[in-house]
Amino acid sequence: MHLDDTIVAIATAPQPSGIGVLRISGPRAVECVATHFQGADLHRVPSHRLSHGWIMSKAGEPLDEVLVAVMRAPRSYTAETVVEIQGHGSPLTLEAMVRMVLENGARLAEPGEFTRRAFLNGRLDLTQVEAVSDLIHARSESGRQVAVRQLRGKLFRAIEAIEEQVAQVAALVEACIEFPEEGTVFTHHEDCLKRIDQASADLRHMLEHADQGRRMREGVSLALIGEPNVGKSSLMNALLREQRAIVTEIPGTTRDSLEERLHLKGLAFRIIDTAGIRTTADVVEQEGIRRSRNAWQQADLTLILLDASRPLGPESLQLLEEADPERTVTVLNKMDLCSQPPHWLHPELPGEQVLLSARTGEGLELLEALLVRKAMMGEVPAGEEIWITNLRQQQSAERALEALEWVRDGLVQDVGEECLAVDLRTALNALGAIVGATTPDDLLGKIFAEFCIGK
Ligand code: GDP
Repeated sequence: MHLDDTIVAIATAPQPSGIGVLRISGPRAVECVATHFQGADLHRVPSHRLSHGWIMSKAGEPLDEVLVAVMRAPRSYTAETVVEIQGHGSPLTLEAMVRMVLENGARLAEPGEFTRRAFLNGRLDLTQVEAVSDLIHARSESGRQVAVRQLRGKLFRAIEAIEEQVAQVAALVEACIEFPEEGTVFTHHEDCLKRIDQASADLRHMLEHADQGRRMREGVSLALIGEPNVGKSSLMNALLREQRAIVTEIPGTTRDSLEERLHLKGLAFRIIDTAGIRTTADVVEQEGIRRSRNAWQQADLTLILLDASRPLGPESLQLLEEADPERTVTVLNKMDLCSQPPHWLHPELPGEQVLLSARTGEGLELLEALLVRKAMMGEVPAGEEIWITNLRQQQSAERALEALEWVRDGLVQDVGEECLAVDLRTALNALGAIVGATTPDDLLGKIFAEFCIGK
């Protein structure tokens, strides 16, 4: 991929809309548009101001009435000169304008290439790059909030501060290797230890809520499990209530395992309504049950549904036995048919228990509050506590922390400076990987490939 040429893409969704935006970035961005712009001279307009005019085709026909902004390097999204054309949101017109810019020497941008340029030009670090993507794709209020904070550089700055501490120690150790007679590390031993301890404590603090951060970003999967007719579909509908309008059936799932989205207290849940689990000779049903069990194993949380109005059958007993209490809520449904909790209600049922009626809605709010609490593994931490939001960041932070522990051991046991230097380098590499400074190209490629064209 060349990064010294000029790229163009439609930045808005390719459908009729109020306005559509064309974005051009690179050294020839202004030239690519200026000759077709009937209005101000784009070579001379002030940076970051809108100019009104018309885009004319090569044949001199008007294409669209537009506003054009020139953002001169380095004060732009990509840190290169960027021109944005705001036209009417007509896909045909926008495509005609893209062709015009291409004819003037630009090329089509690859997915995420604007952001990639911003990254390579040092405008964004990798955590901010991920935040851009997370923000665009956020499906819940909490996911949106953590993305915005990350975009503002919260994680980047925190990692930088930790890196600084570790780099200071590394510099001392390197000096000692070079000038052994001065005994540098020895004289700064306490200081080194203090810095490493501080860096480790900061990383540990960040990792504390990493799982919650990931759940805020990705949402939480919730499997509905139970025998046929216990009320799984009814409960799903009750939970979805007014949210019906945004219910989507995720493609790729089969008729027997439906996935739908639900928002509770700003948190996104993917509810998987599974085929009823029971013993059967029917081959098709067996396949459905196999998938139910699969969904059950993979889900972050499980609701085991029981019919409170009937005796507990052997199949339900089997499900209860297999359940992981940490990840399970047992729901006794159809309480409207019972005058009191069933005699088989037992404290040894796995996980928390909720008495409920999917028909009347009784107990539903309790269940929802419990789901949020379980999903966030306790109280939802105040937003400020969330640092790490994806597995990549988490794994790098864990690697860095591990290396810092080796460094600490090394300092305490007075191993040679060479050993310390190796471990310090490993820690610095892992920290660098979080912000993208030492991230391998193929991984970067994967991250940018998930972006949309025009971003
Ligand atoms: P599923 O097979 O587990 O998905 O169960 P359904 O949701 O299809 O419900 C099976 C039957 O139980 C239907 O006739 C529902 O109307 C009924 N049902 C579900 N929940 C309740 C409830 O809370 N109270 C009562 N009385 N009936 C319910």
